[in-house]
Amino acid sequence: MIAVVGGFTGALGLIIGSFLNVVAWRVPRGESIVTPPSACPSCGHEIRARDNVPVLSWLLLRGRCRDCRVAISAHYPVIELLTGAAFVAVALWLAPSILGAAGLEAGAWGAAQPALLAGTVVQLVAFLYLAALTVVLSDIDIAVHRLPNAIVLPGYVVGAVLLTAAALLMGEPQRLLVAAIGMAGSFLFYAIPAFLYPAGMGMGDVKLAGVLGMFLGYLGWEQLVVGVAAAFVVGAVAGIALMIFRRTGRRTPIPFGPWMFAGAWIGIFGGVPLASGYLKLVGLA
Ligand SMILES: [Zn+2]
Repeated sequence: MIAVVGGFTGALGLIIGSFLNVVAWRVPRGESIVTPPSACPSCGHEIRARDNVPVLSWLLLRGRCRDCRVAISAHYPVIELLTGAAFVAVALWLAPSILGAAGLEAGAWGAAQPALLAGTVVQLVAFLYLAALTVVLSDIDIAVHRLPNAIVLPGYVVGAVLLTAAALLMGEPQRLLVAAIGMAGSFLFYAIPAFLYPAGMGMGDVKLAGVLGMFLGYLGWEQLVVGVAAAFVVGAVAGIALMIFRRTGRRTPIPFGPWMFAGAWIGIFGGVPLASGYLKLVGLA
């Protein structure tokens, strides 16, 4: 059953990834993500439906436009594959709770609990949304060093609606309190350095921090603390590595958004073991 959930979600991820390519290209340019339909940037021919299948079309066309044969960047299928892989990872993480609520847990067949089941499905949707944000905002931040408001700000609304629905349906309203504290705390944690040293930390990072804090707090205190702290650890290590290997200067701005997302996912998947391991290490547990 878990393989079915993972396979279905992975296929969905490839399709969403294809859409994220459109978003990542058009939103920073202020273009509509709905119209016009996708066209070859070189010859202007509209992309046919059969040439718009994620990854496969790019492979079958050997990375070239069907009409003018101009090379199409491997960036597009890579983004589709990354989104598919991220969706599979989220699905494998949350599928056991869904199958349990559906009464389909291996070795423990039970009655389905409709409200709990609905809650676990909404929770899956919420974290798939976060995975999509991760791919598209990292892509844009690396390309143009920006985190567009048009994508970040709806994250507060979509995240709040989905996580509230999930927590209430699952009968765990206390999650919402930690989510609210995580949102405000993470926002302030980034706002202070951004205020003191505007060249180092952008307002886009501060706004994104609130969204990530909400998702992390929903999961729990360990995830929240580890997720926020890991962003700085990963960002610092990556910054030093870049300085050494690419000889970037200490003042070359590097986008921080991707490291914030990396830290958040470390918190999501590893927050509980990392927090307890750290407390043991310092002798507090
Ligand atoms: Zn073309």
